[in-house]
Amino acid sequence: MAGRLDGKVAVITGAASGIGLGTVELFAAEGARVVACDIQDEKGRMLEQRFKGQVRYAHCDVTQEADIAAALGLAKSEFGGLDVLFNNAGISDRMTSIAEVTTEGWDWIFSILVRAVALGMKHAAPLMIERGGGSIINTASIAGLQAGYGPIAYSTAKAGVIHMSRVAAAQLSPQKIRVNAICPGLIATSIFGASFGLPREVADQMAAMVAANGAKAQPIPKAGVPDDIAKAALYLASDDSLFVSGTHLVVDGGITVGGRHSWDTAMESPF
Ligand code: NAD
Repeated sequence: MAGRLDGKVAVITGAASGIGLGTVELFAAEGARVVACDIQDEKGRMLEQRFKGQVRYAHCDVTQEADIAAALGLAKSEFGGLDVLFNNAGISDRMTSIAEVTTEGWDWIFSILVRAVALGMKHAAPLMIERGGGSIINTASIAGLQAGYGPIAYSTAKAGVIHMSRVAAAQLSPQKIRVNAICPGLIATSIFGASFGLPREVADQMAAMVAANGAKAQPIPKAGVPDDIAKAALYLASDDSLFVSGTHLVVDGGITVGGRHSWDTAMESPF
């Protein structure tokens, strides 16, 4: 059966874990060849072993422009070009309130969540133009849409990603490059624990707890998992979304439209 990404080459950042890992797995299953970028080299190399010939790992620290350029270059040298970039690498932080903001902490968050996305698009665009177009997908967050879902620098950075995606979509549309953002809700990944340097088991427990809490609070009472976001990325990467650019796709179990109450009400509805 034909895959929805047959013939396409994708670069995915933050590919060793969570949403990025889920997206590598889905994109590979749908026929794409993938450059998987991360700083967790052992996990990245395991991906290369799992998907021999279809996935290449690139050590790519997204705070380093040279690493980003090299990883995108690998898509061309290894697989012949670039069709899709998923700017997804991310961390969180502890600067919950304005009072806790530090210059260093703020710059660190922005270097990974915002600057890296801009630099990724900068280096991807010329390669996509050579192919006659492409699709860029940037991971934002519901924290970038509403207050209360993340620390202040993180949330502001994610709001920036949503708007940067619109601006880039306008700039790159003449070259047939589509740019969209995805806003995940609460997804069970190690981001919360990992960003605070917790041991893996504790980070995993935290992830399970966050997802379980989400399932209680969301109109759709299911824990969010990386595959939920990977499927949204697949839509935006594939030709199914050829008429979609400059938007942000919210994938959050409905949490930003209301509480569980709205689900209960819906279940009682005679319709
Ligand atoms: P995760 O921790 O499982 O994955 C993040 C990955 O990014 C890790 O593999 C990590 O090694 C990598 N990374 C971190 N810093 C990097 C750097 N400097 N260079 C390259 N790679 C780096 O977390 P996740 O939840 O899968 O996060 C993926 C994206 O989703 C992030 O942008 C995050 O902000 C966003 N997001 C997550 C949630 C959620 O609930 N999990 C919600 C909204 C948005």
